[in-house]
Amino acid sequence: MAHENLTLLTPGPLTTSPLVRKAMERDWGSRDSAFVNLTSELRFMLAGLANGTDTHVAVPIGGPGTSAVEAAIGTLVGPTDRLLVLVNGAYGERVVEIARRLRIPVEIIRGPEDRPIDTDHVEAALRNNPEITHVALVHCETTTGVLNPLEEIACIVERFGRLLILDAMSSFGALPIDVTISPIAALVASSNKCLESVPGVGFVVVERTLIANAASVSPSLSLDLHAQWAAFEATGQWRFTPPVQVVAALVEALHQLKQEGGPPARLNRYQRNMNLLLAGMQKLGFVSLLARAVQAPIIATFLTPSDKTFVFRTFYESLLSRGFLIYPGKTTAVDSFRVGCIGAIDHHVMERFLTAVSEAKMAKKNFF
Ligand SMILES: *Cc1c(COP(=O)(O)O)cnc(C)c1O
Repeated sequence: MAHENLTLLTPGPLTTSPLVRKAMERDWGSRDSAFVNLTSELRFMLAGLANGTDTHVAVPIGGPGTSAVEAAIGTLVGPTDRLLVLVNGAYGERVVEIARRLRIPVEIIRGPEDRPIDTDHVEAALRNNPEITHVALVHCETTTGVLNPLEEIACIVERFGRLLILDAMSSFGALPIDVTISPIAALVASSNKCLESVPGVGFVVVERTLIANAASVSPSLSLDLHAQWAAFEATGQWRFTPPVQVVAALVEALHQLKQEGGPPARLNRYQRNMNLLLAGMQKLGFVSLLARAVQAPIIATFLTPSDKTFVFRTFYESLLSRGFLIYPGKTTAVDSFRVGCIGAIDHHVMERFLTAVSEAKMAKKNFF
């Protein structure tokens, strides 16, 4: 099996470019000035990508994206605060679990997984609960691929004088996020989604004054985002061993993003991938879970065909043998599987994938 040429149609880790992988070939001394400079370049580029250079700072932290979310919540929301979590999928539920483990008082608005969060509900909750201090939103819910209305919710949160913490894990780098348009106190994302790098580092783009005033809030040592920020500001160095090669790959990936034309160009490529995917899969008899209007061009969810001859595992293996890796479903509402359209892939790859799906379908007689 040609595993070296495997194309990952998953929402991270995803298919990376040869240049990004090549950036990992050298060694770095973590406290040497070369790596200090690389870190500073990384922080500057990440804050710039959110248009936050004047107001925000980027604080990278090693680990999966969830660690960065946990660091942000645990450092920015104190025990006397109250967090409203807007939930329409598994990643929203994860924020709830993080807050509960941190013993932060939570309020929850739960909506259906195939629909965006209802902004009227957010407004009502904030009007009726003055004790809510922070609101957590997942921008693109990767559970289904549904896009939540960031701009509207950010403006409501600001109007009520509360702080927005955004999980932009699967959107930052492609979908428009501008802190001068959408007031965002803290935005969390990671290296291995729309930034198209390898996994291993998350980061928080946070208002400078907010992080500066968040000393001694975090109950965790290694996930204390304020301490992490303070170390960067004081010495330019990471507190603990940084994933040096992962940082180098991410900086290279950010240069490639710039070269591509920035997030608008990347969004166009993803949109084209998604358009082809949805049209092609529909032609092959698959039904997409989401209405077109609420589908982010990140990952699509397809209903498992009801025909009993369709077995996901067989379908998965059949695509794998053709060089494509897809993702099982995550929504609890229906049986489904997911196909991502992010990563270093273009419409040619999508066309080859659709050919592979049609072959996989024919290979098994009476498939469905
Ligand atoms: C991927 C993802 C995360 C974090 O996942 P990790 O496995 O911890 O990297 C968080 N939120 C969303 C919306 C995601 O897509």
